[in-house]
Amino acid sequence: MKWAFYTRSQVTWRRLGLVYDMTFLAVSIHADTVDQLDAEARRAWAGGADAVEVRADRFREPPALLAAYLRTHHERTWIVTCRSRAEGGRSTGEALERATFLADAAQGTRAYIDFELADWRRYADVCKLIEHATAGLTPPERRLILSTHDFEGLPKNLADVANEMVALPGIAASKTVYPANHIGDSFDALDLMHEHGEALTAIAMGEDGLWTRALAKKFGSFATYCTLSAESATAPGQITLDKMVNCYRWANLDAATSVFGVIGDPVGHSKGPLLFSRWFAEFEINAIYLPLRVRPIGDGAQRFLDACVKRPWLDLGGLSVTLPHKTAALAWAGEGADRISQQLGAVNTLSFQENVVKGTNTDCHAAVASLAEALDCPPSQLTGLTVDVLGAGGAARAVLYGLSMFGCDVTIFGRSLDKARRLADEHGARAAGWEDRAGRKGEVLINCTSVGLWPRVNESPMPQDALDGCRLVFDLVYHPLQTQLLRQADQAGVQTLNGLDMFIRQAAMQFELWTSKAPDRGRAYRIVADEIRRYAGSSE
Ligand code: NDP
Repeated sequence: MKWAFYTRSQVTWRRLGLVYDMTFLAVSIHADTVDQLDAEARRAWAGGADAVEVRADRFREPPALLAAYLRTHHERTWIVTCRSRAEGGRSTGEALERATFLADAAQGTRAYIDFELADWRRYADVCKLIEHATAGLTPPERRLILSTHDFEGLPKNLADVANEMVALPGIAASKTVYPANHIGDSFDALDLMHEHGEALTAIAMGEDGLWTRALAKKFGSFATYCTLSAESATAPGQITLDKMVNCYRWANLDAATSVFGVIGDPVGHSKGPLLFSRWFAEFEINAIYLPLRVRPIGDGAQRFLDACVKRPWLDLGGLSVTLPHKTAALAWAGEGADRISQQLGAVNTLSFQENVVKGTNTDCHAAVASLAEALDCPPSQLTGLTVDVLGAGGAARAVLYGLSMFGCDVTIFGRSLDKARRLADEHGARAAGWEDRAGRKGEVLINCTSVGLWPRVNESPMPQDALDGCRLVFDLVYHPLQTQLLRQADQAGVQTLNGLDMFIRQAAMQFELWTSKAPDRGRAYRIVADEIRRYAGSSE
């Protein structure tokens, strides 16, 4: 933590020993009874939570019972709140009623009380109740958290309100929450956490603000809030405790953590966070890898990347780039894009090292290496191999580039013949209409369309009985692992290769570019395959 980030009141409290130097990973629990709270809180502690936020909006028992329970578990960190409807909660009680409840529930405990700034401003007496509840603590501790919750969008006066809260004397910490309509909205929250450190937690809600929750510890904010399960979330975009601990590496984060991630839309399904967090852990690298949804609105990708590099304190190390931003990433990287990505017209990897941005593409090498290994030969022996490629999009372009580099004889079957022709012309291949694909003759068939991708798992880009004479069917799709196309190939006695090996290879190349370490691909394959099977509930 840096002294320069504290407001004057925070500095005073630190000198008095009244400010903690840690970020709490708090699980928010809607509790109606002590028994329910107890059951869920035990799960939270067992799962690695540092604190429990008791959302007592509709608590059905006397507050004294809650206070007695909290006193019994005084060694734990508790945050108690009774969120009003106006601020996204379920409580219909007036400010005085809620404050009285909170003061009674905190009586004789060391619980933090979270109360809404709007009501705190309007009812000064209310706050005294809360302050009295914790006044007898030895050593004296500030226990009041002030919070604001906006559900319309990024508030115009966000910074003013945050600055007002953190400057108030007698407050343990502040929290401000608003929805992010796109990832650009989340930078305001990051800026505030960077500026105020432990005095403030700022959360941009929703998938587009996910990183504000995951990075709170990097900025030393007071707390971040997660959920036991997606179903029991108390706010949009809350990350599960399991993910926070096991995927976003909560225990390992600190101010020096480097930030990596994947930008695209959608990215929620990405297996990148699972994969890279394992590799960072294996090599004991202080880094986090996050799914960053960047919507393709106008020059959204460019604005996002510009905003990132303007903030060196983000410690951005690298980004994987996926649909639909690979072309935009190439343009943004400019001269930093290497020859292969320029020829492909797509960047799938951005590296940020010592103020230099580099762009490259790892898809092409990964596809060829995966294919060659399946055929049990080095890539140099692919020369003359006859290959039919289905699709003429970004992945087909990368595959084709690699195949033509090694002298394969390729035919592209595209839904849009013009597009297939253009691509074929660029790489000395042939193009054919989509309706002609059943007459294919190549030794290898590669599916570069998204047909068969989860959840439309029963679709195949090839008609039945059109795989005769084929030596290998390679489906770039890896979710599910065994697509309908690969099932057809299996039935026809044709060797199959799913897209997971290629995915792991291109990711491993990214990891090596960023860290100079070569990860174990075999173990990674098993981890991601297990996750895909679990997700699909498949019996593969
Ligand atoms: P694009 O959107 O760039 O291209 C998709 C291609 O598939 C287009 O040519 C599109 O045709 C065609 N297509 C889509 N639906 C149909 C359909 N119903 N019938 C016929 N053609 C269709 O996507 P990408 O090229 O980036 O990705 C394609 C697939 O490859 C995805 O499933 C992706 O997950 C996978 N992939 C796997 C990787 C790995 O590492 N294993 C790496 C990259 C991608 P049109 O042009 O007419 O729209």
